[in-house]
Amino acid sequence: MIAGAGQGGAHTAIALRQQKFAGSILMIGAEPFLPYERPALSKEYLAGDKAFDALVLRPASYWEEKKVEVRLGQRVVTVDAGAHELRLADGSAIGYGALVWAAGGRPRRLGCRVHDLGGVHYVRERADVDRMKTELETANEIVIIGGGYIGLEAAAVLRKKEKHVTVLEAEPRVLARVAGEALSRFFEAEHRAHGVDVRLGTKVVGLDEKEGRVRGVRLESGESIPAELVVVGIGIDAAVEPLVAAGAVSDNGVVVDLRCRTSLADVYAVGDCAAHPNVYANGRVIRLESIQNANDQAVIVAKSIAGSLGAEERYDAVPWFWSNQYDLRLQTVGLSLDHDDVVVRGAPESRSFSVVYLRGGRVVALDCVNQTKDYIQGKALITKGCEVDRAKLARPDVMLKELAV
Ligand SMILES: Cc1cc2nc3c(=O)[nH]c(=O)nc-3n(C[C@H](O)[C@H](O)[C@H](O)COP(=O)(O)OP(=O)(O)OC[C@H]3O[C@@H](n4cnc5c(N)ncnc54)[C@H](O)[C@@H]3O)c2cc1C
Repeated sequence: MIAGAGQGGAHTAIALRQQKFAGSILMIGAEPFLPYERPALSKEYLAGDKAFDALVLRPASYWEEKKVEVRLGQRVVTVDAGAHELRLADGSAIGYGALVWAAGGRPRRLGCRVHDLGGVHYVRERADVDRMKTELETANEIVIIGGGYIGLEAAAVLRKKEKHVTVLEAEPRVLARVAGEALSRFFEAEHRAHGVDVRLGTKVVGLDEKEGRVRGVRLESGESIPAELVVVGIGIDAAVEPLVAAGAVSDNGVVVDLRCRTSLADVYAVGDCAAHPNVYANGRVIRLESIQNANDQAVIVAKSIAGSLGAEERYDAVPWFWSNQYDLRLQTVGLSLDHDDVVVRGAPESRSFSVVYLRGGRVVALDCVNQTKDYIQGKALITKGCEVDRAKLARPDVMLKELAV
């Protein structure tokens, strides 16, 4: 039984069949669509450059052929781990042998009193973006709350559509949660150069409304920024309530071990909702919100259920991520948490450079902008954990593969 028909849920089902699991598979998804890739929602799909069909992970015929039953538009509301049974919103009960929780997360709402007005949008599901696209036909003044990846990607698309875009970020720099200062400053400068009004250290205290629609965003300073449409991208909360109510240990997500097992018997969790000990975060329990994490955890769980997981096998895949903004392709590998040193390879002004993060003289992560070679070669530096010559690392003419010894 798979709860959630998104990236992690779909890949669990795919991997189960690849692992020759012969039992029945039922995947239950709250959205009315077959599993699809979310990354394009804030990029090509919002831009209108990619149709929804191109995002669907597998056609209906694949699921039929692989004998994976997919029930869409259905939500799991309770789990009885003792009885190995769950209940759907329509009241029906279904028994399971193993349950994989892959329900992802819900966009965090604004903390202010009025937050769900007309014209206020989130970017998590296809339906969110379809609604936004309809309103974009007439809206011109756009305020984006949150300078993380989703907010910045949306800003880039909306500038291309020649909208007036303001980005409000509470922290003193964009991408503060995920990247180092050098990368933040680079993207800040890029967005400004493309005409985005980037406001840092700016706290939103409320929304101005007229007849149920947003008209502006009120700041702590007392200023109100006019807005015909607001995009909120301030993170997600893991969708784990039914599991927590069933007694699963949770900590900003449902806690799993290195084999993606929750504290409940025969219940696993993968993807955005799984708080897992990550080898690349010094074993710290974290949640990752990435395609890599959902897919690789799905394989571990599928092997576990199919009985093909090796005694020593565990979730230890190197984290990677990407983001497209304007003509910039950012590729990230490793985790920069706890780094104590940073080396910038190449000049950010050239719009092709890499930021290398080190801990104790070893490379732990790279953020590569239009620099795929560093991204590919840098991975080995991380996995091998080798100490590197800092001076050589700083020279873009020295290939990273030469340092991976
Ligand atoms: C706009 C956007 C851009 C992104 N860009 C990138 C990117 O560039 N690179 C990258 O690596 N990652 C990106 N991500 C992150 C990536 O898409 C997620 O990490 C990935 O989708 C996580 O997979 P998941 O299975 O955990 O959750 P999801 O894919 O969200 O799937 C969860 C599914 O479960 C359903 N569900 C929730 N509760 C229940 C329930 N109780 N019962 C049944 N179904 C339920 C949900 O409706 C959803 O369909 C992006 C995400 C978004 C939203």
